[in-house]
Amino acid sequence: MIPSHTPAAILTAPRGAVTVASVPVGEPGTGEVLIGMEACGLCHSDLFVASLEKLPLLPLTLGHEGIGRVEAVGAGVAGLAIGDRVGVTFLASTCGVCELCRSGRERFCPRQLNFGYTVNGALAGYAVVPSPLLFSVPDALPAAEAAPLCCAGWTAYGALREAALQPGQSVALFGMGGLGHLAIQYARHLGLRVAAVDVSESKLEMARSLGADLALAAENASRTLQKQWGGADAAIVLTGSPAAIQQAFRSLKRTGTLITSGLSTNQYELPMVDTVLKGISIRGSYLGTRADLDEVFRLAQLGVGRAYIETHALDEAPALLERMRQGEILGRAVVEF
Ligand SMILES: [Zn+2]
Ligand SMILES: [Zn+2]
Repeated sequence: MIPSHTPAAILTAPRGAVTVASVPVGEPGTGEVLIGMEACGLCHSDLFVASLEKLPLLPLTLGHEGIGRVEAVGAGVAGLAIGDRVGVTFLASTCGVCELCRSGRERFCPRQLNFGYTVNGALAGYAVVPSPLLFSVPDALPAAEAAPLCCAGWTAYGALREAALQPGQSVALFGMGGLGHLAIQYARHLGLRVAAVDVSESKLEMARSLGADLALAAENASRTLQKQWGGADAAIVLTGSPAAIQQAFRSLKRTGTLITSGLSTNQYELPMVDTVLKGISIRGSYLGTRADLDEVFRLAQLGVGRAYIETHALDEAPALLERMRQGEILGRAVVEF
């Protein structure tokens, strides 16, 4: 039985508090499906959305790391049936016709809609969602473990692939949160030497237990990497901290690559002389290709990229977001329904 209302973690005003409230469950319209959610992870981008001065949709249900099952299918939906298990990511829909959409880079489509930002997200018992960019999720993966892969795993894997490193090369990962602890596992699977960097000793401990070759406190990281490795071939910044971007830049060897994939509204500054004379490449990385997420789910079934999770009920979401803001969550907090 599909209920008329469902609890959801919502924002009712820009820069307002996240609250849990009852929202109506609609019928899926053309191109939409109704999903009964099994689990949804909490991401720093939820805090980013909650911090924006303007929001395109209010009230807004947050959440873009959702795993659930299709419970009803609207008109004109191809390839999905009741009972299918799907993943909700940050990417809700794209135009499908622009140059980027037609070349497998739909995540950069200027006309994209985003779950938990421009359309309602997955932090709800039930969600009516656009169907085109729902991902198939293997039945073998427990929902709470699969949920963080929809954003943290996909983004971490996509950033590593952007770095285009060969086995034996080195990567420094800045930020050992939800993305970072998965990035270590993918980097090791790709045969890379891995340095993990964070400001938190407990997160560095987790990084060591996941097999990082070096686990370094942020303030010494660039000096240590230059001394021990002659710099890293690539440095990937998985937080929104401008200071981390500067530390990552200084940790690179000549002709190295800096990848930024954390989100914040801050600006960052980097030295022009070193960028030019050392031939540094600087790239932004956002999510990944659709094949990347399929690969992330495949790897998880092999035990690579298993998320370290703590699970909670939906009504704890506001307190969990606050703990995340304080940097107190190890791995990922996941809401189970
Ligand atoms: Zn996210
Ligand atoms: Zn497009």
